[in-house]
Amino acid sequence: KLSKRLETVAKYILEGARFADIGSDHAYLPCYMLKKNKASFAIAGEVVEGPYKSACTQVRQEGLSSLISVRKGNGLEVVELGEVDCITIAGMGGSLIASILEQGEKKLSTVKRLILQPNIHAYSIRVWLLENEWKLVQEEIIEEDGKIYEVLVAEQGKMVFEDKINADAVLLLGPFLMKEKNNIFQKKWTSEIKNWQRILTKLKAAPDSEENKQKKEELIAKISLVEEVLLDET
Ligand code: SAM
Repeated sequence: KLSKRLETVAKYILEGARFADIGSDHAYLPCYMLKKNKASFAIAGEVVEGPYKSACTQVRQEGLSSLISVRKGNGLEVVELGEVDCITIAGMGGSLIASILEQGEKKLSTVKRLILQPNIHAYSIRVWLLENEWKLVQEEIIEEDGKIYEVLVAEQGKMVFEDKINADAVLLLGPFLMKEKNNIFQKKWTSEIKNWQRILTKLKAAPDSEENKQKKEELIAKISLVEEVLLDET
């Protein structure tokens, strides 16, 4: 059985897809998808020897060697152009996910959908998507074992914003998540605001400097941006 986190990622893989799971570790996600006949082929990519070996063992034990190709390599280097129509990258930081997409950008031209699950810094991914003409088509925020995760689903296309303030909010909070504003979303951002306020108090007590002043202004702007979304009743 998959974790709730990976089950949420799995939900968005296109029916019958050929997909690559980058940073697959035990290849649980590809095994689940192929075992349930929800996908037709998968690549499990791993850059580290230990997890690569775990993926090989798992796929062999499940009898899925003809349907899942386990490959060792960095990011999208393990994928040939045109080989897959979906890519999943889960369980890493957003900046790492964005750098994997950036380095493998050439492989994405024939990909229909990306399903990305950053543990932190979803912002870096949304900025990358915007700059590379991918648009979000769905998002989810879930909680499992006391941790909060976001799942971002993107397809090729341009993101559009109402204005600059809307763009800042959308990139930080997520267009779908900030519209839905469910309990987990409110919990996450209420705690972020508390955290930023703690930092702000420390900065206010520290000696004044240009850097300090700039940091304070950035934090104040972020706090008011997020507060506005949380308090908005519409
Ligand atoms: N995707 C699985 C999940 O969500 O449960 C495993 C997540 S695990 C915390 C992250 C995995 O990504 C590790 O096994 C790590 O070796 C792998 N990884 C990190 N950077 C990578 C890269 N550039 N290319 C391929 N795999 C990478």
